[in-house]
Amino acid sequence: MTFELDSLVRKNILGMMKYASARDDFSGSAKIYLDANENSYGSPAGGKLNRYPDPLQRELRKKIAEERAIGSEEHIFLGNGSDEAIDLLMRVFGEPRIDSIMILPPTYGMYKVCADINDLAVLQVPLRPDYSLDTDTIIQTAVTNKCKLIFICSPNNPSANLMDPASIRRILEETSSIVVVDEAYIDFADAESWTKEIAAYRNLVVLQTFSKAWGMAAIRLGMAFADPQIVALMNKIKYPYNISDVTAKTVISALRQSREKENMVRQIKAERSRLMATLAGLPFVKEVLPSAANFFLVRFADAAAVYRYLRERGVIVRDRSGQMHCGECLRITVGTPDENRFLCETLEAFGKEKA
Ligand SMILES: *Cc1c(COP(=O)(O)O)cnc(C)c1O
Repeated sequence: MTFELDSLVRKNILGMMKYASARDDFSGSAKIYLDANENSYGSPAGGKLNRYPDPLQRELRKKIAEERAIGSEEHIFLGNGSDEAIDLLMRVFGEPRIDSIMILPPTYGMYKVCADINDLAVLQVPLRPDYSLDTDTIIQTAVTNKCKLIFICSPNNPSANLMDPASIRRILEETSSIVVVDEAYIDFADAESWTKEIAAYRNLVVLQTFSKAWGMAAIRLGMAFADPQIVALMNKIKYPYNISDVTAKTVISALRQSREKENMVRQIKAERSRLMATLAGLPFVKEVLPSAANFFLVRFADAAAVYRYLRERGVIVRDRSGQMHCGECLRITVGTPDENRFLCETLEAFGKEKA
């Protein structure tokens, strides 16, 4: 399909003037800054917290471009979590009460919540019972409804599987929708990231985050990798200073320790195998589903009873049994060796009590 970006963008977003901050008007270096109504005396917390951060996060985006092997920072949008990117994409492309987005349940809950907030219709094309993409239906539904955005979560939350690259490629080529591949868990998968393809597909947006493999959920930093024109549109409508200087500095220092992250990912993957094997051996476990993430689904004979038993003993997992194709399933995040041991012991105790 031919792809014409401007025709997908909301007219008001194309036509509007962005907010011009003091730091947009003057971004060089000067002797004295009296342009932004900051407090030149400092702050009670010390540090250099009194100055507004760079609205375009140039240094941080450059460092991320290096670490993720992205050609240029022009391909990178940074948000207050990837949730901000999800919301901004809807606001760039989705005309309230007119346009639609597509989700593929069971999947991450924020897509629908953001669509509801933005008053966009939500087309739902369920994954097949094995959690694979129903590619023909996705394409047909997107084209028929002139769907603006298709959200593909890979590895998918909550099912933890990777989506077939050939299917994603077909969706990119055979629809004129913006295809968002949410790779929040890609560091745990043995697969190439779709970031390699952002230059090839102008309708591709890849989401990643510092909240999972990097272990930095508290500082809120999400990334969207896309065509520079899409990045520019997202930057045009975001809050001017959406990434705090504290976040930017913390991430720049973490990027120097990426070995440390790789080590943690390796440990988590090893723990994942061990934990999944132990659970698969329990008599009241019906099925442990495969995982390319730092969590997995377990199908129990009675998920509600297991959930309650764990909760009463201080172990919280996620009950996903109400989601499509997830009957009697709990979603379990891989923890530290101690946490995993306690989980297994508690489950074994459940088995003994209920036997
Ligand atoms: C956790 C998660 C995110 C990350 O959200 P942040 O706002 O970056 O913390 C995004 N997508 C999926 C599917 C997730 O599970």
